[in-house]
Amino acid sequence: MSEKGLMLDRVTIALGGRVLVSITHAVAPGEVLTVMGPSGSGKSTLLAYVGGFLDPAFEASGKVSVDGVDITRLPAEERHAGLLFQDALLFPHMTVAGNVAFALPAEVKGRALRRARAEEALADVGLEGLGERDPDTLSGGQKARVALARTLLSSPRMLLLDEPFSRLDAELRQQMRELVFGKAKASGLPVILVTHDEADAAAAGGPVVRIGA
Ligand code: ADP
Ligand code: MG
Repeated sequence: MSEKGLMLDRVTIALGGRVLVSITHAVAPGEVLTVMGPSGSGKSTLLAYVGGFLDPAFEASGKVSVDGVDITRLPAEERHAGLLFQDALLFPHMTVAGNVAFALPAEVKGRALRRARAEEALADVGLEGLGERDPDTLSGGQKARVALARTLLSSPRMLLLDEPFSRLDAELRQQMRELVFGKAKASGLPVILVTHDEADAAAAGGPVVRIGA
């Protein structure tokens, strides 16, 4: 099957014999599948399985494919999942531009070219000219944008979002939702968003799956 997008086919994840997550779902390019559930229900675990970094403590089965290609057995670095978490996770010892350039594929050669690409990516998320800054001097909303720029620059084939808006205040949260979902749509990236915020699901506008209690 060569269906475009992300396919979760009978993905089942258990811990100590207890099934946490069981899901079959297709996510079209640009579409956001929202997975909701209480804390501890297995949301981050599902993303870890799809991204290829599930802890071996879990027992998992089922197929994950992207654009019809089975990626279930591939190591994380060959799956090209773009990740965003609650915290921006920026390297404190690098500049903002350095953090973003870090995600560039090795094929992009030369300090000046890598630097220019990083600056473009920053401008693209509304952070023009902030490349030289120390990440510690940025606001929470700016850090979230840097993380997004870095993720987009890594040429992902899908986005896996783990409660990425939950630390932002209400106004910034709405801005970031629009920015992230807009970029995903523009790039045709399938997205899995895990959250316990109903407003995230509403903003995502796609199908919603509930796991756990
Ligand atoms: P959520 O993201 O929905 O809050 P998680 O996916 O992080 O939940 O966790 C699901 C369950 O798996 C929880 O009971 C958690 O304690 C457990 N868990 C998470 N990571 C590990 C691990 N590395 N080893 C064993 N159990 C884990
Ligand atoms: Mg979690």
